[in-house]
Amino acid sequence: MPFSDENSGYGIFFWKQLKKPNVCAIILTEQTFALWKGWCIDVEKIHKEMTLYEKLEILSDAAKYDVACTSSGVERRGDGTGMGNCSRAGICHSFSADGRCISLLKILFTNECIYDCKYCVNRSSNDVRRASFTPDEVCTLTMEFYRRNYIEGLFLSSGILESPDRTMELLYATLYKLRHVCRFQGYIHVKAIPGADQRLIRLTGFLADRMSVNMELPTAESLRLLAPHKSRKNILAPMRFVQEKAKENRQEVALYRNMPRFVPAGQSTQMIIGATPETDYQILNVAEALYKKFELKRVFYSAFVPVNTDISLPVPAGQGASLLREHRLYQADWLLRFYHFEADELLDEVNPNFNVYLDPKCCWALRHLEMFPVEVNRADYRMLLRVPGIGCKSALRIVKARRLGNLKFEDLKKMGVVLKRALYFVTCGGRMLYPVRMDEDYITRNLLNTAERVPEGADGMTYRQLTLFDDLSWKETGSTTKGKARGKNEADIYLP
Ligand code: SF4
Repeated sequence: MPFSDENSGYGIFFWKQLKKPNVCAIILTEQTFALWKGWCIDVEKIHKEMTLYEKLEILSDAAKYDVACTSSGVERRGDGTGMGNCSRAGICHSFSADGRCISLLKILFTNECIYDCKYCVNRSSNDVRRASFTPDEVCTLTMEFYRRNYIEGLFLSSGILESPDRTMELLYATLYKLRHVCRFQGYIHVKAIPGADQRLIRLTGFLADRMSVNMELPTAESLRLLAPHKSRKNILAPMRFVQEKAKENRQEVALYRNMPRFVPAGQSTQMIIGATPETDYQILNVAEALYKKFELKRVFYSAFVPVNTDISLPVPAGQGASLLREHRLYQADWLLRFYHFEADELLDEVNPNFNVYLDPKCCWALRHLEMFPVEVNRADYRMLLRVPGIGCKSALRIVKARRLGNLKFEDLKKMGVVLKRALYFVTCGGRMLYPVRMDEDYITRNLLNTAERVPEGADGMTYRQLTLFDDLSWKETGSTTKGKARGKNEADIYLP
């Protein structure tokens, strides 16, 4: 095994060089070997001048822009009166194959990079402090953090050091040592480097739980503009490879119980939002295609953080893309994966962006008022999923509970239905909770008033001006009959 030569890099180097017959004669002379070894020692000296903690500070901070896991570390110093503090040394959270939330040590192997992506803080033309771990150092950190119960796994990404193959070799060497020398059984999420040899990706896949290849930007054109060294083909090829290998492996595991598992927690990717002019409709279509064609477990959306100044970038350094937009995309992504929605149902060419005021499911329901109200005692599971305020769990509970008898609004509340949203769209036993005018503007206004906080300073979208007869102060708490008894017209009743 060429990687068994600890972490010195010599074994990896020779394995790589010996694959090239035209260079093997050169490197095998004693003189060349001495020269090369001297160079290696120089590099090691440079890296050793930095302490492990300094490297950790640099490389965990550099990893914070990768959102292909669920959260990033926060910085909060201890005030001397209590226990503990949060340092930026990134511990993030992710979900394992069985759905558990786990904390991960999130680091880059190196922030050195030969590429020059316009949006990236680690690009080759940036003057930032550079550092690289050795495989040994990553193993030490992981094991020590794990022993202290800080983490349950590792999230390992990397800049491109020398070449995609060289980087992938180092990532493989690290994982190999972690699994076979340190006997680490915890969760590992590692990057597959686009352009790396597929044999290396395959070997690494057998050691990792999850792999991700970052999509970076939604279209090939945007990639050409902001990441000229990357191509759509280079990114999709390893994704397809991981998908096919995982499929093959599932069949092998079914036949041979002790077969090692290849990427058991599946693969994910990340797209940067707001660095290029793509609409939400385009982004969601790309995500849908990735879920369907590449069987991805997750697509992560990262609101663009401008850390560089470049004329190709849409906003000057310091002003990021809207986090609310990122949030709406995550909500829509959830609808694609768990609520049986299609991207074309949520957005189209005429309305290509999500409404910042309302969540995507409410927007869809408001555009399809002809399908509402839905009778909860009769509607099928898929239709229940489309009702704002009813989630997957509450829809299942409704379907189970209604076998035993007719449901009332009190029952829905106990089942976790968010009635302040659902009340506009459902009936129980043929009656609505309050008398509701099935009118888009009217429901929108009420939803905004109760469920969603309008972001301050958000502009560009307005709803119908209130009329003189819209009574904002009076709140109906009783039933329809009560409203009528007070002499109010049903249409004029303002709901909580
Ligand atoms: S490949 Fe591009 S995005 Fe990745 S570290 Fe290098 S410059 Fe940054």
